[in-house]
Amino acid sequence: MLDQPKRIAVIGASGSIGTQTLEIIGSHPEKYRATVLAAGSRVDKLIELSLRHRPALAVIADESKHAALSEALRPLGISTAAGEKALCEAVCRDDVDTVVTATVGYSGLAPTIAAIRADKDIALANKETLVVAGSYIDRLLSRSRSKVYPVDSEHSAIYQCLAGEDRSKVRRLIITASGGPFRTWERERIALAKAADALKHPNWSMGAKITIDSATMMNKAFEIIEAKWLFGVHSQKITAVVHPQSIVHSMVEFVDGAIKAQLGLPDMKLPIAYALGEAARLDDAEKPLSLSDFTSLTFEAPDAGRFPCLSLAAKALDEGGNCACIINAANEIAVAAFLKDRIPFYGIYDIIERTLDHIERIESPDYEDYVATNDEARRYASTLIN
Ligand code: NDP
Ligand code: MG
Repeated sequence: MLDQPKRIAVIGASGSIGTQTLEIIGSHPEKYRATVLAAGSRVDKLIELSLRHRPALAVIADESKHAALSEALRPLGISTAAGEKALCEAVCRDDVDTVVTATVGYSGLAPTIAAIRADKDIALANKETLVVAGSYIDRLLSRSRSKVYPVDSEHSAIYQCLAGEDRSKVRRLIITASGGPFRTWERERIALAKAADALKHPNWSMGAKITIDSATMMNKAFEIIEAKWLFGVHSQKITAVVHPQSIVHSMVEFVDGAIKAQLGLPDMKLPIAYALGEAARLDDAEKPLSLSDFTSLTFEAPDAGRFPCLSLAAKALDEGGNCACIINAANEIAVAAFLKDRIPFYGIYDIIERTLDHIERIESPDYEDYVATNDEARRYASTLIN
């Protein structure tokens, strides 16, 4: 078994992280093989990827697209399935060693839980899983053999900085943020921004939802929550700093005052490969970082006045329970509406706040409570938009 390629399930294969993951897998057939590919609804893209990577199974979440998937792939001996249940079963298969959770939003929760229950290792891109249900996932992990390797670049950086360190000597995790496309804009101008403006991220090329989350800085709030659950550090010891060049991917400060940082180009291939390799390094960086290309690396405090979503991390972590699940659900609905230019930029924060005011709190949610909270919060946020 030792010399066999690691068998990977890529959930969200057709997205930004998914396709980059498959490029790494395709370039290292001696190390990795994609045995399961899954997507949401873009069946043509899933078929194209399956023809290239020849998984044992391809799954489409949207059941109405199953016939097309099956017609294209079954003659080639690739099994197909559809729906959320099939997705959860797919990650538990015997021919899967590691699951890359690269779906967007709440849809990552159920397959991640299934993978943890089946003791599969996880390369975790879907941060919303930890945002929605961090304490629940934490409990599941404590009873499972599965290990979680962060894909998010900031968390990969922190993971790398913590290697070989005594965790009790950590004073602070410092998460860097690019500041997004509106970093230098006045509040009045931001208020009039359209989806097309917010989609112009200065440094990173990512899926639409996370790009809007970066513009509102909700992404940074989510990453603070993600860091709390990944590294078990108290929320008061996690801070965000704006670093417009996105070269320092995050830092760890220790009790003796030392700060360790991980630097690199803004390219997700490095953190994805580091997670796939269980913290082992690939020895063929495509684009090495040339420090002399950067005359200065700057850091500034984030502005919660212009980016109020940032403050929601502290609220979610202070309150606990289902609070972050409500925030995530309202954010998903509001971001989808903003992407269609149906609400203004600051409407995203307003909808989250009003949904938080409306939905009942649950102190110690179980899985069914998260499902119910997510449904209710989405329904209420949708009525606010309509
Ligand atoms: P994309 O929007 O590019 O891709 C999302 C993927 O999820 C697609 O494959 C999509 O399928 C699939 N999907 C959507 N809905 C469902 C569903 N209900 N069930 C199963 N699959 C579904 O997103 P990104 O790749 O940008 O982001 C993925 C995750 O990684 C997010 O949680 C994000 O926060 C995180 N992340 C992303 C980074 C990046 O650089 N992109 C950086 C750090 C974290 P389809 O194509 O068919 O719609
Ligand atoms: Mg990130």
